[in-house]
Amino acid sequence: MSPKLPLPEPLASISRHNLLYPFLFSPIHPLPSLSSHLNKSRAGNKSQCQSRKEARVSLYAKREDHSSPLACAGNKYRKLEYIVPDILSSQPRFGAGVGSELPAIPGSAGSSNGADGNDRDRKITTLVTEGALQSNHTVQVASVARKLGLESVVLLHKGTGGGLRSSSDPRAFTRTGNVQIVKLLGSDVRILDPPEPDPVSGKTKTQDELVEKVLEGLRSEGKNPYWIPSGASLHPLGGLGYARCAFEIAAQEQEMSEELLQDGSSSAQSQDTRPKAEPFGPARFDYIFVACGSGSTLAGLIAGFKLLEKTQRQPQLTNARPRQIIGILTSPTQPKPYHEERILRFARQAGSLIGLDPEKDITMADVRLDDRFVGSGYGVLDPGTKKTLEFVAEREEVILDPVYTAKVMRGVMGWDFGKGEGEQGNVNALFIHTGGQSALGAYADL
Ligand SMILES: *Cc1c(COP(=O)(O)O)cnc(C)c1O
Repeated sequence: MSPKLPLPEPLASISRHNLLYPFLFSPIHPLPSLSSHLNKSRAGNKSQCQSRKEARVSLYAKREDHSSPLACAGNKYRKLEYIVPDILSSQPRFGAGVGSELPAIPGSAGSSNGADGNDRDRKITTLVTEGALQSNHTVQVASVARKLGLESVVLLHKGTGGGLRSSSDPRAFTRTGNVQIVKLLGSDVRILDPPEPDPVSGKTKTQDELVEKVLEGLRSEGKNPYWIPSGASLHPLGGLGYARCAFEIAAQEQEMSEELLQDGSSSAQSQDTRPKAEPFGPARFDYIFVACGSGSTLAGLIAGFKLLEKTQRQPQLTNARPRQIIGILTSPTQPKPYHEERILRFARQAGSLIGLDPEKDITMADVRLDDRFVGSGYGVLDPGTKKTLEFVAEREEVILDPVYTAKVMRGVMGWDFGKGEGEQGNVNALFIHTGGQSALGAYADL
């Protein structure tokens, strides 16, 4: 597929440092066995909905786990593409510390530096980030640091859970999977115990205070650290990667429908008796499903598709129903409204940078979250999620990750398609595979 991606201004002019395969889009492919399973099980439920004609679902996957040649490709590389120019700049605008991630005001360079203004004139030496023990994000930051010739410090919080407590082998959980890979990438890995009350003052440090202490420590060693918050979502530029990805998906929709016009029945001769992909109907995905963890993947997509709808000139599509972008929550730690507020804030932040009117163009109605599959804990493999992971491996030869994508797929398989207006025909649904399989080693009993 063509690497050229036409983007509208001002998005096209925002600095980006390429971390993905330079001449490729991340692939989209059909999931024929899962589509067939979905349509069969829905047909089995007919009695409930005889009055309306059934929609047929064609399910596809976008493989963000195949987006980059860098270690353990996943969704964080796209976000980091827009953060690297700030890291490499002689006067970084962001990354000074935990509290300094104020909303960016477009065009006001240098407006949100922390207190250490003088240090910020020196080149960044060290990327610092955090996550749960089996965090995929920290692997991608460590690998970008290497790529840029910088050091990295990775803080892994035992207190965030992430499957440690439920692991049958906690010792292995702290050494295998992503922890092992972060170390292979040469990162300074610091596993932090949950903060405890100070014996004198009785006060308990917050995780943020622990981070600030690490940053101070690095500065006292003469280093100039750049802080990237968990999942890069609180970073003011964190939503841009997936805003751009919306345009990539739209370009692929276009290519897929052109291909279909040219070559509608090429697979008819195949010996393979397994289910075939359903034909790709109208040139768009009606549903897009993606994990919602720290939130800027979903938020970026929301902003990007809004801009696409506003700027695209495809008259044949103006009557089509808008794509529904659905975030599947992956952790029960915080309630749905907490995430809704964040997603709206991140989407508006990205929107303001790419030329939308944030308040008017993006509203709470655009934020669609499903919290039915959060399970018993962040990173905890509950029986339903485990079953889905195994099912997808057996049916499609696709390996999901235990923390995010298996929960998303549960959401897809449990979705009540065909409720929307005009959905009686073919419904195209896109599952975004955001990566994360490198954590599997820590879940050896799966
Ligand atoms: C980080 C991550 C997510 C969640 O993305 P957010 O932008 O944090 O919501 C989903 N899947 C995988 C594999 C991840 O590593």
